Parts: sequence; structure tokens; C-alpha cells
Amino acid sequence: MMRVIMLSPPGAGKGTHSKWLAQQTGAEHISSGELLRSEVASGSDVGRQVAAYTARGDLVPDELIFSILVPIVVAAVRETGGYVLDGFPRTMPQALRAAEIGVEFSLTSNAVIYLTAPQDELVSRLLDRAQREGRDDDTLEVIRHRLAVFAAETAPLVDYYRGRGILLELSTDRPEAEVRADLQGWLESRGLMPSAAASSADDADAAG
Ligand code: AMP
Repeated sequence: MMRVIMLSPPGAGKGTHSKWLAQQTGAEHISSGELLRSEVASGSDVGRQVAAYTARGDLVPDELIFSILVPIVVAAVRETGGYVLDGFPRTMPQALRAAEIGVEFSLTSNAVIYLTAPQDELVSRLLDRAQREGRDDDTLEVIRHRLAVFAAETAPLVDYYRGRGILLELSTDRPEAEVRADLQGWLESRGLMPSAAASSADDADAAG
């Protein structure tokens, strides 16, 4: 079963492609950002702590992230056999600890998809999304900060996973159907996706 990490800067399409992969394979889509947003929306104490970071575009501390995510990932593997991790891990300490937990619970990732697009394209997609979804971290200032945080904290994970031989790098600066076809071909070639799976989603480009 597919246990994949979607690694990409904000706006490169990880939300869109994660949803599609989960639909195609039955693996559970786990979005750290969505989980954090619902925690904030619940008005809990944890939600208030989280909001102080997310509103600025800063990363939420690792302890908080692990306490929210680990039970969900363990349950997803038990129930579906796989996962599409959208937005986690996002720092080297998160990646190293996730790898240890993966060994401990037999849920090690077997693929990492690194989605890329030019910076100005990322910014314009996120500003478009702001019109549609009204996320409070999709303002120009916070977007720029999130991109800088990605470059400083998350980009080092690319070489780490490339070194483990499980990384596919894909440009999303082209029609979504082409990206999906490449994604599917690579996952099929690794035995992580059934070849019969055909896409029925539309071709609209989307941020995420
Ligand atoms: P996203 O929806 O993936 O763009 O995430 C929205 C925000 O949630 C990020 O800007 C961070 O503040 C926070 N966040 C999401 N995932 C993580 C993570 N793995 N570690 C720390 N903060 C995170």
C-alpha cells in the first residue's frame, strides 16, 4: 500500500494532488494544515496556541504537531494500510523523528513527491486561493514568509529523501492532467498504485 509524503512549497498543489491520490488508492489523506485549522476553529486551548503560529506563517512547534498527528497516522495505517501525508514532515527534526516512529510502528513511508513551481506562480496561485477560501495566512506578507520558511526549514528534506531513493520531483507548472499522469506512472512502476486507476477529476489547476 502507498505510504506517501507530499513535500512542496505552499501553492505547488500538494492539497490537490494529495486528495486525488487518496481517492485513487484508498490511502487516507492526512493534511496537517487542515487538522490544525480545525483545531483553531474548535476554539480549544490547543487551537489558540496553534493560531499564534499559523496566522503568522510560522511553523507550529514539533511537540504539538506530533501529539496531533501520530495517533491519526497510526490509526490510518491500521484502517486503510496507507496514507498520503500532506504537509508533514516539514522540518529535518520532524523527518528524523517520523522515520523512527515509522520503524517502531511499521508504517515507514515508501514514496515522497516533491512538487515544484516558480515562486511568482506560487504567489499568484495563493492569492487566487485567498479570493476563494479566505484563509488568513494567504495574504501577500504571510505568503512570502511561508515561502521563506519552506526554503529554510523544509527544502533540506528534499536531499534527505532523495538520498533514501524514494523521491520523485515533479513540476506543477503545467496542466494538472500531465502532472497526474507522471505521478501515476511513477507510483505504478514502484508497485504503489494499481495500473487500472484512471483519473476522473477535471483538469483545472489549483493551489494547495
Ligand atoms: P498548510 O495548510 O500545509 O499550508 O499549513 C498551514 C500552516 O499550518 C503552516 O503555515 C504552518 O503554520 C502549520 N503547519 C502545517 N503543517 C505543519 C508541520 N508539519 N509543522 C509545523 N507547522 C505546520
